[in-house]
Amino acid sequence: MSSGKILRLPNTLAFRLTLWYAGIFALCSCVAFLLFYTLITSVLQERTDQELLAQAQRFSTLLAGDGIGAVNNSAVIEAQAAGEKKVFFRLLNLTGEAFSSSNMSYWKDINVDVGAIEKLLRGSGPILETITIPNRSDEVRILYAMLNPTVIVQVGQAMESQARLLEAFKRIFIITMSFLIVLAAGVGWFMARRAVSGIEAVTHTAQKISGGSLQERVPVKPRGDEIDQLATTFNGMVDRIQTLLTEIKEMSDNIAHDLRSPVTRIRGTAEVTLTTGKSLEDYENMAASTIEDCDRLLDMINTMLLISKTEAGVEKPSGEEVEVVALIRRACELFDPIAEDKNVSLNCYAAEKALVNGDARMLQRMLANILDNAVKYTPSGGKIEVSLTGAKNHNITISIRDTGVGISGADLNRIFERFYRCDQSRSQPGTGLGLSLARAIARAHGGDITVTSTVNQGSSFNITLPKAA
Ligand code: ADP
Repeated sequence: MSSGKILRLPNTLAFRLTLWYAGIFALCSCVAFLLFYTLITSVLQERTDQELLAQAQRFSTLLAGDGIGAVNNSAVIEAQAAGEKKVFFRLLNLTGEAFSSSNMSYWKDINVDVGAIEKLLRGSGPILETITIPNRSDEVRILYAMLNPTVIVQVGQAMESQARLLEAFKRIFIITMSFLIVLAAGVGWFMARRAVSGIEAVTHTAQKISGGSLQERVPVKPRGDEIDQLATTFNGMVDRIQTLLTEIKEMSDNIAHDLRSPVTRIRGTAEVTLTTGKSLEDYENMAASTIEDCDRLLDMINTMLLISKTEAGVEKPSGEEVEVVALIRRACELFDPIAEDKNVSLNCYAAEKALVNGDARMLQRMLANILDNAVKYTPSGGKIEVSLTGAKNHNITISIRDTGVGISGADLNRIFERFYRCDQSRSQPGTGLGLSLARAIARAHGGDITVTSTVNQGSSFNITLPKAA
């Protein structure tokens, strides 16, 4: 690992996850150890207390049966048997003075607790206490109990073996814990690295993409976890950006192409007139042709702007109530003469009244664009039918069916794109913006346009619009 990477290590997510993992593991282990340690300590002390109480009970029975001498002998023998450094016994009178005891040479620092004797005399039952002998590390558990109304016994037991057990327990815990924390950090690091490797792949790809390689994608594994979902979403986003960029590129190519022809034409006409034109009429013709070309250009630019505004919601429908039948009739009347000229029959079947909320001017333009196409792409002898259905439903449908040249499957997906024109239509006048605008208007009114078509048999455009409430 390079020195830069090592310096950046504390800032990495994997490092912080590992720290958290090891830290939480260590904390939980310490809490568990403390609980276990407290439990063992109290169990050991409980056992010692039971032994001391049982011992006092035995002395009490012996005193009642065989007298103080027997108790004294038994105390000495039991202290020797258990080890004089482990237990001691003292027999006390009611003032706390010792009148007999086992060998106390090891225990000479231990005095009688006057407070405990007083409590005992007040009838509080056996007293148990833990004391530490100065200059010795281990503790002693001491019991004061009444053997009979005049004799008190003080029994002491060293807690050395318990202390040794707890010490061993602590040592084992520290050794095991040190090993386990290192292991936990290792496992944590491995898991964190695995988790963030997917994020790193996304970052890598994003870096490559911002460096210009838009075709790069994050490899997606079939696990379907959060990282794979992130990678899939990221790839989807890049796909969308790539499609948009391609569309923008195609559109600018189309705009450049469509602008170049009229501008070249205007320039050509002007040049020819300047070099060869002699009469006023030549100059008048040049001006007329320039105006015509400029009008066409302006119309194209205005339509582009209108599509953008309608799609962005800037050009909103006014929201008046529009009678659709009247709208269809007007459109048919408008195109009837053109259809007739082409020997194409145009029939309108719209009888039921239906109202939509919208902008009559925009809706008229939408219908006109589609009817214009129907007339344009239907050869002589063909038929066009315009009908209105669903007047009683929530949505109305205006269908414009023609028996024209039709549209191929591949073109069907693209005819609503700006500037898209099917190859067979290039001979016809047009800009490729009509359907884009029509669909933008339908969508701005909460509706849509769908199309079905068979090549050489005809096309059917269906406009759905929500009825006025
Ligand atoms: P244009 O100005 O070329 O008519 P449009 O956006 O209105 O542009 O239409 C896009 C393309 O869709 C047309 O160039 C044409 O190829 C195809 N098209 C539209 N309507 C029809 C139709 N009724 N019959 C056959 N082709 C059609």
